[in-house]
Amino acid sequence: MSTTIVIGAGQAGLAMSRCLTARGQHHVVLERGRIGQRWRRERWDSFTLLSPNWQTRLPGRRYAGADPDGFMTGREVGDMLEDYAVETGAPVCEGVTVTAVSPTRRGWRVRTDNGDLVAGSVVVATGDLDRPAVPALADDLPGHLTQVHTSGYRNPDALPPGGVLVVGAGPSGQQIALELARAGRTVHLAVGRHKNLPRRYRGHDTYWWMDRMGTLSRTVDSLSEPTATRTPNAVLTGGTRDLDLHRLVDAGVRPYGRLVGVRGNAVGFDDGLPAMVADAEANAVRFRARVDSWVEATGLAAPAEPAPPARSPSWAADAPAALDLEAEGVSTVVWATGFRRDFSWIHAPVVDDAGEPVHRRGITTAPAAATRFGGIVVQGGVTTAVLNAVVAEDLPGPGSVFLSLDLRFSAPVRPGDVITGRVEVTAARADKPITELAVSVTRDDGVVAVTGTAVCYTATPATVSA
Ligand SMILES: Cc1cc2nc3c(=O)[nH]c(=O)nc-3n(C[C@H](O)[C@H](O)[C@H](O)COP(=O)(O)OP(=O)(O)OC[C@H]3O[C@@H](n4cnc5c(N)ncnc54)[C@H](O)[C@@H]3O)c2cc1C
Repeated sequence: MSTTIVIGAGQAGLAMSRCLTARGQHHVVLERGRIGQRWRRERWDSFTLLSPNWQTRLPGRRYAGADPDGFMTGREVGDMLEDYAVETGAPVCEGVTVTAVSPTRRGWRVRTDNGDLVAGSVVVATGDLDRPAVPALADDLPGHLTQVHTSGYRNPDALPPGGVLVVGAGPSGQQIALELARAGRTVHLAVGRHKNLPRRYRGHDTYWWMDRMGTLSRTVDSLSEPTATRTPNAVLTGGTRDLDLHRLVDAGVRPYGRLVGVRGNAVGFDDGLPAMVADAEANAVRFRARVDSWVEATGLAAPAEPAPPARSPSWAADAPAALDLEAEGVSTVVWATGFRRDFSWIHAPVVDDAGEPVHRRGITTAPAAATRFGGIVVQGGVTTAVLNAVVAEDLPGPGSVFLSLDLRFSAPVRPGDVITGRVEVTAARADKPITELAVSVTRDDGVVAVTGTAVCYTATPATVSA
């Protein structure tokens, strides 16, 4: 049996390993660092999940600890994944970095910093939030500034003294801005597109509602357009309180529009802050309305909650268009600008022009699409198995074995095609139970995929028992 190589021992790689083990599929999981590496090494010290503990589920495992409504720290997630790997017997090799994957005639060559491996199939589980995405204008910032991406940020004390410009107001940007402001830093926040959600509504956590309403079990197929997966993450933080720009401003954070330029020691912002604030808030309003409709439709007992008053804050309308970093004593820029993916190390046509993997529910047929057949074809024994069935069951019938088979494959057959096998007796020997057959396999679109001849020996029941 060929080996499957799973690259990455985060939750996706470990869940895949568990499923492969259940199927008896030989495999190995290669991890460049430790199991759960990103949760241990690429999150800040005070980080906790946004999703409550009860919602953390893996194949065959649900949260069974003492605090289902709590929020795990990054280290706790790493430990949980390590426990899971032990429990499921995942064959993980830690400290092995995959540097390239290329197709071979029989499968894949997987190049690592510890030698080459071959595999029949490869699962890329290196994470959807892979490389820090930092805008090009970072290069224009004055050289004396310290720049750090959220994946490298640890805590306020690890930054040089002085003010901080946080760029990006998603969940990470807002959490870090709040932490820095509480630590006494002067914090400037460049605000881009983001979405608000109430942490709790009508007596339950937002994730409880999303779980109940089926939001979390929606698949990509149910989305109106695939790009809907690229909307910003909702701004939440562990605990019971909402996190939004209003709370940040109360804590002393100074918000601006989107960062659009650098000139010398000054940075410029667009004038979109009021619209960003309104859009973000509209998301929370839509969410509450969806919950209300669902409660009404299901009759669930959930105490009504008055809508919070609409706000159009003056700090949004009056946000300055520029910030002089030197005059304001800013020493550090924290890029909370998200992540991008990089699959350039996979030397096969598996990504589209935007660098996104071409796949359907995780399976890529892109290498096959690049062949002259334009997709996966099933050939040989898979197609002609239908002839075996006809010969063995009908004509000549039970007891038949092939003495010879001469086939010509004239057209491809693809998964999902309906095929019909035809067998015609063209000659029969009088002295022995031997027949010559003309055989063919035809696709449901009428194209003949296989033609040929066969010679069969058909044992009679007496011959069989003799
Ligand atoms: C700040 C932040 C907060 C988040 N909060 C939540 C949350 O509250 N709840 C939630 O459900 N999700 C949250 N997520 C999302 C979550 O982190 C990801 O969806 C999840 O980690 C994806 O799991 P994964 O196994 O696909 O990838 P990862 O966890 O990224 O694992 C990929 C693994 O592959 C390894 N790897 C990468 N490249 C190589 C290579 N070339 N060779 C060998 N190994 C390699 C990495 O070291 C890593 O261990 C958050 C993400 C971020 C960034």
